[in-house]
Amino acid sequence: MRTMQLTQIKEHLYNELGTTFPAERRRDLILEMKKLSDVKVHCFNCTGTCCTMSANSMQITPLEAFEMLLSLEITPENVEEIRQKLKENIQHYRLDHEISLGKKAHSHLRKTYTCPFFVPGPKGCTIKKELKPYGCLGFNPRLENDNGSSCHSDQTLLEKRDNENLADEEAANLYLKKEFQIYWTKLEIPKALFHLIDKMFT
Ligand code: SF4
Ligand code: SF4
Repeated sequence: MRTMQLTQIKEHLYNELGTTFPAERRRDLILEMKKLSDVKVHCFNCTGTCCTMSANSMQITPLEAFEMLLSLEITPENVEEIRQKLKENIQHYRLDHEISLGKKAHSHLRKTYTCPFFVPGPKGCTIKKELKPYGCLGFNPRLENDNGSSCHSDQTLLEKRDNENLADEEAANLYLKKEFQIYWTKLEIPKALFHLIDKMFT
């Protein structure tokens, strides 16, 4: 077990480094969701298309992965259970097999997968909203009860959030990359969490 625990990393990120707190960096996205929900435009009756293999290819940064671990309240006691859940998800959706788009493209095919933190039914996402990936918060329905057919990302709001937090998040990601020898900038949710846990709890 690595000695540096979540609380120490939190302390460094938010107090010493001065990274803005998670809820504040997501404030406008959460407000927009609330505004939509106030006029009955919400996800309560949807099957969760955007979180499942039919449409989800979400990729996240080390900082977003770390904040998801905070939501999961990961401890030495539950880490193995979470690690196993992530491993099964990665294997099931073959996320560990990258498909190259060719030398010129210098990139890989984005794969779709059902998020391991999605629960079918009214609950849907099990991650706290103030710790959820930005892309998940920015993707919302636009009409009442249309079961996902009008949903899209609010790119303007997402870009505004990215720009406002650019320096802050660059420094936080750099710290996590250096501290845990992380080589990637963005990965699918289960892979990002699995890699981070591997570095933190071995
Ligand atoms: S954002 Fe759209 S597709 Fe995703 S759960 Fe909500 S209503 Fe369904
Ligand atoms: S974190 Fe939540 S909203 Fe995002 S893909 Fe997973 S279940 Fe869906």
